[in-house]
Amino acid sequence: MTTKPLIFDLDLSEIEKTLKSWGEPSYRAQQIWQGLYKNLWRSPEEFTNLSKTLREKLTGHFTFSHLAVTTTQYSSDGQTTKTLFQLPNHEAIEAVLMRYSHRNTLCISTQAGCAMGCVFCATGQMGFRANLTSGEIVEQVIYYARLLHQTGERPTNIVIMGMGEPFHNYNATMQAIDRLNDHAGFDMSARRFTISTVGLIPMIRRFTQEKRQVNLAISLHASGDDLRSSMLPINKKYPIRALLDACREYVKLTGRRITFEWALIREVNDTPEQAKILAGLLTGMNCHVNVIPLNPTLGYNGRATTPSRAQAFRQILEDNGIPCTIRIRRGIDIRAGCGQLATHVEASKIKESP
Ligand code: SAH
Ligand code: SF4
Repeated sequence: MTTKPLIFDLDLSEIEKTLKSWGEPSYRAQQIWQGLYKNLWRSPEEFTNLSKTLREKLTGHFTFSHLAVTTTQYSSDGQTTKTLFQLPNHEAIEAVLMRYSHRNTLCISTQAGCAMGCVFCATGQMGFRANLTSGEIVEQVIYYARLLHQTGERPTNIVIMGMGEPFHNYNATMQAIDRLNDHAGFDMSARRFTISTVGLIPMIRRFTQEKRQVNLAISLHASGDDLRSSMLPINKKYPIRALLDACREYVKLTGRRITFEWALIREVNDTPEQAKILAGLLTGMNCHVNVIPLNPTLGYNGRATTPSRAQAFRQILEDNGIPCTIRIRRGIDIRAGCGQLATHVEASKIKESP
């Protein structure tokens, strides 16, 4: 395991401090920052605008990558790419690129595994393994930015919906977003990020107070506490009413719309009753509901909803004035659902390379 710090773990001010301690002028730090985040250079050798001595110093003091590609998979339509990476601590994480006609959306991870134990989720089934550092979160974005750069493109949207619960690794997640925001560097505006949380109320409140431009999505999945607790154990600690109070406060204080996510599981939470109760709970809130048919996982017996049941569910919400979109499952043939590639590779020990 490498002991050198990962360069993506540093803010510009921290790079400046290091360079100062080496007796270098501060504009050198800006050159490094731009090399990393604008030119997307991979290693010190590419920084030909720096002296050889400085390049060697960078090599000696920092590592430029923590993510080793283990597996890359492409969906049959070629529009979705999923990469499984290994971290220096040998944990596996994954990130997904979804190409649309006018968007390139990345889905990135904040933890290896997850402590929240949602029963239908492949990552939850793994348990908690490790928090990612801010730099390891950043590097997933840089990895795909380099790939897109080859065709003159860049990521347009970043959803923090990969492995892990971002509000259970709050500081690293926010630092990663801040670092990618920087105008002189990667310049990805906060509005282009969406954070999805299982509903850690204290962190939702903190996020609200920080008044960030980042979009917020809440994994709701059930409109009654008994059902939600049986699917998402964290609901026992943060039940629906209290969660929705925190959501209402978020909407009120930030003036932003909030999204609710709902994985439709046949005859579990895709019933007209669930839809009606949900519509009642959300009445008057500036929100949007995204429903997605369950992506089957190895450790859970529930089945995906059917198209007609999904349609009926959506209709009930719409009839009650709650905007609802049925999302398609992107890259289901490459197990692009949350944590699914990592668990599959682990279960079968199969290595599938392109
Ligand atoms: N931990 C965060 C973000 C990662 S999960 C959260 O739970 O919100 C991203 C989304 O995928 C969540 O809404 C989660 O509930 C959903 N999800 C997890 N497993 C799924 C599955 N098998 N099928 C459909 N959606 C799933
Ligand atoms: Fe963790 Fe989200 Fe999966 Fe729940 S759904 S186990 S919070 S990653």
